[in-house]
Amino acid sequence: MDLTALIADLDGIRIEQNDKIIQQKSRDFYWYSPVLKRQLDHVTADLVASPQNEEELVRVLRACYRHDVPVTPRGTGTGNYGQAMPLSGGLVLSLADMNEIKEISPGRVICGPGVICSDLDKAAREASRQELRMHPSTAHTATIGGFIAGGSGGVGSISWGGLRDFGNIIRLRVVTMEEEPQVLELTGEDLHKVTHAYGTNGIITEIEMPLAPAYDWVDAIVGFDSFEAAAAYANGLARQDGILTKLITVVAAPCPFDYFKRHQKFLREGQSVVLVMVAPQSDDAFKAFTARNSGEIVFDATTAGDLKGLPPVFELAWNHTTLRALRVDPAWTYLQVLYPFPNQLELASKMDRMFPGELISHLEFVRFDGDITCFGLPLVKFTTEERLEEIMDLHNENGCPIFNPHRYTLEEGGMKQTDEIQLAFKREADPKGLLNPGKMIAWDDPDYDFGSGKTWLFKGLKQAS
Ligand SMILES: Cc1cc2nc3c(=O)[nH]c(=O)nc-3n(C[C@H](O)[C@H](O)[C@H](O)COP(=O)(O)OP(=O)(O)OC[C@H]3O[C@@H](n4cnc5c(N)ncnc54)[C@H](O)[C@@H]3O)c2cc1C
Repeated sequence: MDLTALIADLDGIRIEQNDKIIQQKSRDFYWYSPVLKRQLDHVTADLVASPQNEEELVRVLRACYRHDVPVTPRGTGTGNYGQAMPLSGGLVLSLADMNEIKEISPGRVICGPGVICSDLDKAAREASRQELRMHPSTAHTATIGGFIAGGSGGVGSISWGGLRDFGNIIRLRVVTMEEEPQVLELTGEDLHKVTHAYGTNGIITEIEMPLAPAYDWVDAIVGFDSFEAAAAYANGLARQDGILTKLITVVAAPCPFDYFKRHQKFLREGQSVVLVMVAPQSDDAFKAFTARNSGEIVFDATTAGDLKGLPPVFELAWNHTTLRALRVDPAWTYLQVLYPFPNQLELASKMDRMFPGELISHLEFVRFDGDITCFGLPLVKFTTEERLEEIMDLHNENGCPIFNPHRYTLEEGGMKQTDEIQLAFKREADPKGLLNPGKMIAWDDPDYDFGSGKTWLFKGLKQAS
């Protein structure tokens, strides 16, 4: 890497060379995982570049290609698996300044990758009472580009499914990492080349997303005496076709009372809860359904009075549940589990009972391939890496596939197999393998045996400096 020559080529483009700031911009929320914390704590880039537009971005990529400098794209670094961390050093490419909202029209928005999700919602709401179909629970800090390249779904997935589903992204403009970078427009089937690819095979520079009608969603918390009762209620509510919801989350005791500190006054010790966002026109029906199913509405934003200081309920859900627990007791970590339809309740309950004192259940209800089921983000008390592996193995053996959040590679965190479409696109779009190195096993080690049960280690993982 000839950094001096690179910096000369980047003349006029905003770069950052302050060590402290470079270190900050080389991190994400990898520390949620004690395993990734051990492996990645030392990872740091050599510099950060912040292009203001596509033309500058192309210049950065062209220069990095010429000087063989690895490039790791970054939105705002709220990803959980070291996704935005530069494992081989080099340049962190911050997309945060490419945050222009270009067009809002019925059913769609066109914007730069660096727009913060909640800013996009605010603009669409003000322009035409529309909003994103779904956003991560980090909507107030995360970029839309980072959500597409690194996220999966979230608040809104109960109605719309995940980002991977056809129709939930309309178009992406992508710049390749070649001697002369190309600018491609991807739609339809081609979107799968770069969505959830961690920026390993192209940089997203423009995004067209579908919009849904915006409502003044009502936050509610429903209390239950047991996790099973809460899960059965949530499953039933999610299947009510006439009640429009944006979030249905189950969090088992003791997490709500112990860790939802700002809502604690509404909760009882030992209570399991269901967090709900419901459209105002469905609120009466939601209450009637809840009464019929013996749920106790312990918090209702329409009647709770002064809401100052209370986070929205979606900031108790998805990976915010883990964050709330970690802030009180750093010994918690978490898993990502699928409880396949139609046995989701039975499987979630079985896993809940299997690890007393060691696991607290947390379910997110979603629409998945047309069915209603739930993902789990259970809290797990960390003792050793061996025990963590054992708990994950037990989930897999019991028919609850784990999407391992303690791995930094796409494959190990996902389907444990090569994504041939993303790999083929990387061969075209990043022939030198400079984009976010170490995240796609298939690129570095095409013959890797995913059945080996071993953790893959990226040989280029930069040594602590
Ligand atoms: C408390 C908490 C709650 C969360 N809740 C959710 C949730 O509900 N749903 C969910 O899906 N995720 C969730 N996440 C993960 C993360 O916040 C989201 O996925 C978020 O959208 C990532 O956006 P970001 O701007 O922080 O991306 P970053 O972390 O900066 O980047 C994510 C990945 O995308 C790549 N990337 C970023 N921008 C581009 C680009 N323009 N082109 C190509 N590649 C790019 C990066 O290299 C990285 O691999 C949560 C995380 C935390 C800490």
